[in-house]
Amino acid sequence: MNKTLISTLVLVITLCVNANAQGLLQEKNKFTHQDTLRGSITPEREWWDLTYYHLDIKVNPETKTIAGKNTIQYTVLKPNQVLQIDLQEPLVLTKVTQNDKALEIKHDGNAHFVTLKDQQNIGETNSVIAYYEGKPREAIRAPWDGGISWKKDNNGNHFIASSCQGLGASVWWPNKDHMYDEVDSMDISVTVPKGLMNVSNGRLKSVIDNKDETITTNWHVANPINNYGVNINIGNYANFSEVYKGEKGDLDMNYFVLKENLEKAKEHFKDAPKMMKAFEHWFGPYPFYEDSFKLVEVPYLGMEHQSSVTYGNKYMDGYLGDDLSGTGWGLKFDFIIIHESGHEWFANNITNIDIADMWIHESFTSYSENLFLDYYYGKEAAAEYVIGKRKNVRNDRPLIGQYNVNNEGSGDMYYKGENMLHTLRQLVKDDEKWRQILRTLNSKFYHQTVTTQQIEDYLAEASGLDLKGFFNQYLRSIKIPVLEYKVEGKKLKYKWTNTVDGFVMPIQIEINGQSQWILPTSKNQTLKLKSKNSKVVVDRDFYITVKEF
Ligand SMILES: [Zn+2]
Repeated sequence: MNKTLISTLVLVITLCVNANAQGLLQEKNKFTHQDTLRGSITPEREWWDLTYYHLDIKVNPETKTIAGKNTIQYTVLKPNQVLQIDLQEPLVLTKVTQNDKALEIKHDGNAHFVTLKDQQNIGETNSVIAYYEGKPREAIRAPWDGGISWKKDNNGNHFIASSCQGLGASVWWPNKDHMYDEVDSMDISVTVPKGLMNVSNGRLKSVIDNKDETITTNWHVANPINNYGVNINIGNYANFSEVYKGEKGDLDMNYFVLKENLEKAKEHFKDAPKMMKAFEHWFGPYPFYEDSFKLVEVPYLGMEHQSSVTYGNKYMDGYLGDDLSGTGWGLKFDFIIIHESGHEWFANNITNIDIADMWIHESFTSYSENLFLDYYYGKEAAAEYVIGKRKNVRNDRPLIGQYNVNNEGSGDMYYKGENMLHTLRQLVKDDEKWRQILRTLNSKFYHQTVTTQQIEDYLAEASGLDLKGFFNQYLRSIKIPVLEYKVEGKKLKYKWTNTVDGFVMPIQIEINGQSQWILPTSKNQTLKLKSKNSKVVVDRDFYITVKEF
């Protein structure tokens, strides 16, 4: 094994561990009362439907503190007088008011139960204001082990960013911290010392000079947004922009980078409009035209923050200069620009209700990388890339995690998940139909939170295939189907092993260079061959194991 190979292997292993850090932490059978409060739709969450947030905070880099308030507006769905707000320690929820009256709060760890004084009538729109302050958890290894990153740029300026996927947005601001309920729109006002600026989601509405050596940036998000997508990024930023002519008309694409990287970024970020062109082709219009698209430089690798995708891939191609597929194709694009932007369709447009179904975010987005390649370099290149990533699959746990306890499935949701979708593309047998399926997926579930079942049902219906066993195999078990076969004289014998009940999947093979489909089952089957000792090759686009018996 040469040195490069060893270092590549070490890197790949590190990446896998990193990508799954949250998963590993949560790989447990016993869940706590706090996990349930965080991960389930409790009665104190269920009765109200979020409509609007105004997060209004002051960030003090010197003391590493945040203080401020969040106005939480909601519609009453059911009668109830107790409302759950989430805010993680060590931050302190100091006061909650409704109609200027301070309310009683019962604190239960990171969940806070507020008793409302005014009668909550069905259909009414009400609001509470949650005040908080303190030193938020500092990110240990952003974005996987998140919180706030308090860093400095090369010129000594503060360079600060939030990241909170999995951990939850309540690590830095008070909210209803469950994926099922997205707010319809949001304002984000952030006050920082002069000389710095904050970049959040949506569009910049105003910058206020407070005459006390601070400025306030006011951002408005016009579309539904999930909590972990909300972010603050504070730095000494430079800005450039372009107008992209997209499927829905003019799309503003804005780039916020450290001043020292401005020229580099102008060249390197050409991947962004390229990404937009490929993904609009495959997935349909960018889902947040009203909010624009932004790439924002941050002091960590990157994250899919809605309409302000964060970027820290050091202006390199690949994943920090590395190709996750080992085929060379991964060096044809900046992994973070392509992957994190792919999440605008899968994670931000179509969002999982429960994080146990996070494969919906990561499998489709990892798969999107190969569709980017497909668009610019062709189908073969794309296939090599996605197949190349199979070596990173660990088969440790199923892709779906445990429900209602804020538990992610296996990190295999990336590499195995994208290969599952690549396999499904083969089963659909028609690339244009497959593209329309992906586009319709994005229009049918536009701005929605969904379950695995909804995605499965849609894919089965749209493809006309029975996919129950297929999804049970790839999403809910760690078994990779094994095609066992043997050429005996003028006969080909074959069967599936290592499959779950109900697994049905035809497969494409080549016999002496002639392509044909066979439908193996768990029982031995025989196909008559035209000649003796025929050469049989199984199509490697299918994510299976092939064994001669
Ligand atoms: Zn991702």
